Amino acid sequence: MPAIKFTERSNRMQTGNKRKKRILVVSGNQYRAIKMHGITKRFSESVEFIYGPGCVLCSGNKDFFHRLVAISKQENVIIATGDNYLKIPGNGSTLEKERRKGREIRTVYTINDVLLLAKHKRRDKIVFPALGFETMAAATAAAILQAKVAGLFNFTVLNGHRPLLDLVASVLPFVKTDALLFSPYDVTVLGTGVVETFVSKNKMPAAIPGDEPEQLHRAIKYLEKQDSPGMYVDPQFILKAEGEIKSQQLINEVFETVNGDEKDIFKTPYYSIASMYTLHDAEKRLPATHYQTRENACPCHDIIKGKNTPFQCRYFKKECNPLNPLGPCMASREGLCQIEFLYTKE
Ligand code: SF4
Repeated sequence: MPAIKFTERSNRMQTGNKRKKRILVVSGNQYRAIKMHGITKRFSESVEFIYGPGCVLCSGNKDFFHRLVAISKQENVIIATGDNYLKIPGNGSTLEKERRKGREIRTVYTINDVLLLAKHKRRDKIVFPALGFETMAAATAAAILQAKVAGLFNFTVLNGHRPLLDLVASVLPFVKTDALLFSPYDVTVLGTGVVETFVSKNKMPAAIPGDEPEQLHRAIKYLEKQDSPGMYVDPQFILKAEGEIKSQQLINEVFETVNGDEKDIFKTPYYSIASMYTLHDAEKRLPATHYQTRENACPCHDIIKGKNTPFQCRYFKKECNPLNPLGPCMASREGLCQIEFLYTKE
């Protein structure tokens, strides 16, 4: 097998005379679809797919799940969340285990269900754990405003929302990519204009396809050929250049953008609930003073940052598997560890 090397002029991988284009697939869902539908094989001669940082559950700070599980143990607290949060370890337990011990952990499908719960359970403190990027941050902001107007001061959010493009920018130095693939869901609030500016600043092309195999195929074909900055948007999606202004206003109203400090695992900006909405901030209302601060053994964050692969983790496929995940990268269907576990044959 010919040696694989990086050129100085370009980050593209060379195999003999053939140059492989490295595409960073920002969304965990799209990376999963690419693996699941065998698209990696179709482009095996020309493209190398790099996992991006867009896994919602993996984007929280390291203590997010320690804090969440610790809060679930407090009196008169109901955690209302999607079932994807249940198996993620924190504070020496998981929400699933705490539910078995009798703690109130409710599975909800939308944030409106959480508001309804808050309305019917006024004596309890309802906690909604919120991770993800602008699209989800806008929904959380809308719910906080609704709760404020309705006087639902028992509705609180354990917030871990982050700006997507700052997170992507933070991994670019590690992953050496030639092109970017974004999901329309992730960028609909930001707008294509902001994405275009981002890719032109980083001197690379980008594509925004849907998750269906033929949509991904068309976008990858475009990126395979495109060497200069440029953007392909799947014609089946109507994305505005300026984004969703109303959603942006909601985010600006409810959140402040704060720079990541030393304690922040990604050291990139994050959205913090503004002080006038403190009553809805679970971190302030329900301080979890007893959560474990010891380092979790799971090195998920190095995997998200592209510094390591799951195959380099000593727990992968041993103590850690989708039925017994040690971290969000294995617990989440968007996480690289789960995707490699299910779709890569060694
Ligand atoms: S294999 Fe498990 S322990 Fe290792 S990084 Fe992935 S989730 Fe964490």
